[in-house]
Amino acid sequence: MTENEPGRDFIRTRIADDLAAGSLEGGVVTRFPPEPNGFLHIGHAKSICLNFGVAQEFGGVTYLRFDDTNPLKEDNSFVEAIEADVRWLGFDFGDRLTYASDYFDHLFRFAVELIEGGNAYVCSLNQEEIRASRGTLTEPGTNSPYRDRSVEESLALFQAMRAGEFADGEHVLRAKIDMASPNINLRDPVLYRIRNVAHQRTGDAWHIYPTYDFTHCICDALEGITHSLCTLEFEDHRPLYDWVIGNLSINHHPPQIEFSRLGLEYTVMSKRLLHTLVEDKHVDGWDDPRMPTLAGLRRLGVRPEALREFCSRVGVTKQDNTVEYELLEFCVRSDLEDNAPRGMAVLDPIKVTITNFAGDDEILTAAWHPKQPELGERALRFGRSLFIEREDFALEPPPKFKRLTKGGLVRLRYGYIIRCDEVVTDDAGRVVELLCEYEPSSKSGEDTSGLKPKGVIHWVAESNASEQKIRLYERLFLQPKPDTSDLSASLNPQSLSERAGLVEQAIVDSDMKHFQFERQGYFARDPDGGFNRTVTLRDSWKGGKGGKG
Ligand code: ATP
Ligand code: MG
Repeated sequence: MTENEPGRDFIRTRIADDLAAGSLEGGVVTRFPPEPNGFLHIGHAKSICLNFGVAQEFGGVTYLRFDDTNPLKEDNSFVEAIEADVRWLGFDFGDRLTYASDYFDHLFRFAVELIEGGNAYVCSLNQEEIRASRGTLTEPGTNSPYRDRSVEESLALFQAMRAGEFADGEHVLRAKIDMASPNINLRDPVLYRIRNVAHQRTGDAWHIYPTYDFTHCICDALEGITHSLCTLEFEDHRPLYDWVIGNLSINHHPPQIEFSRLGLEYTVMSKRLLHTLVEDKHVDGWDDPRMPTLAGLRRLGVRPEALREFCSRVGVTKQDNTVEYELLEFCVRSDLEDNAPRGMAVLDPIKVTITNFAGDDEILTAAWHPKQPELGERALRFGRSLFIEREDFALEPPPKFKRLTKGGLVRLRYGYIIRCDEVVTDDAGRVVELLCEYEPSSKSGEDTSGLKPKGVIHWVAESNASEQKIRLYERLFLQPKPDTSDLSASLNPQSLSERAGLVEQAIVDSDMKHFQFERQGYFARDPDGGFNRTVTLRDSWKGGKGGKG
């Protein structure tokens, strides 16, 4: 196997090699370990696609494990949202849904084992003192005065910490490794801290909670994880991961393998910043369609297929991985191009009266998708009164204008050719109505008129138009790399514009979710009503490079 094979990154190569070497008796086991302190974002999607993806490809299994060791920041609503998002993305964890808190008893016993082996001690310095004695990148730390506390004393104190006999911060449990290590993570890191707070799952059972570094590796080992895949910022923690497992009576030692985090231009991904956006009401909640969260992207109208394709194109490497927004849009567009039914909606209407049409509406038909006949057809109405897009008419047309002008012809998509005879304006000179004639022999598909209009425009008959709230979303930030010290200064003031659009009744009545509104873009039905623009038809971003309308 080589890394150059398509779809083969360094992690897949490693797993294939491990399998070939016969070192994975039980098959591949991976885990995705989110902390339930926010919604999942598109960076997490990369990790999910990797962890679940490799297990699927190599016939293994994946755990969804909540890393719930910090009860101050965590919440059950996040647990539920994360589970739903992983399923929505298309991955199945079956009954392998676990929580770090499931292992609190084991973790406590392993901590006792470290103390008994002289590998951990209760330190009574406060947080400040610990920080001050940790040293710097260039200077070693200094030993805690409690470092040589007897095993018996540390054990007794640790039990008392557990029993809730102390206030927060009075003591911590620290690993006894090396205060002079060039790797600061090995300078007697904290393994347990006192937090006299209830935990969302274990209630009042604990007054001490284990740190990530102590918890994560042990959970991995207990679950038989064969490849513990994490992002590069944990590279410096790997020696600690290995130290903890190496000093405990655990006979399974998962290798930690790091890959680079996904970053995406024009957005922020850290949960701290996402919290700020929500709390400061720059967006309308975690599932606001402008958020890079999976819930936001879903609401925007992105399908999981598009996200999986995006993650696959992004790939897995150790190089810095900030991806252009256009790649996401490309994946979303390609997916919807193939899958979204077509329809018409007029977002900024002008009224058109067909002066030579009288009587009952005519019923026309149009396919839902030009390449997917199995989606069937919808009925369209044509009558005396219709609407076209304001920008599809020009009183004084610029050169090469191919749409409707006074005295000019245009074809109504799936319908007839019309000619504009008269323009009605209001006192301010604004066009309010066009009086047109249609050519009865020019019906789309059976045109014998011989007329050759230059353009085709979308339209909706008044009797077929449903007024709907339309939300046009743009990127949330103006800069590819938003200023994270002052998010509000980087926000795009035009990230959302709302309007009342006129949407074909058949779209509103159907039970489909995603549509291409012809010539307008891809739109998705919002769960609270109306339609959200998922993505434009072409790259029309004006703030970025190469944007063209
Ligand atoms: P944040 O820094 O946004 O708070 P986190 O890493 O603390 O994120 P976790 O819930 O701990 O969030 O992440 C769960 C898993 O997802 C971890 O294994 C983490 O490495 C991975 N992950 C988080 N962000 C990204 C990203 N941008 N790209 C790839 N993987 C990520
Ligand atoms: Mg984390």
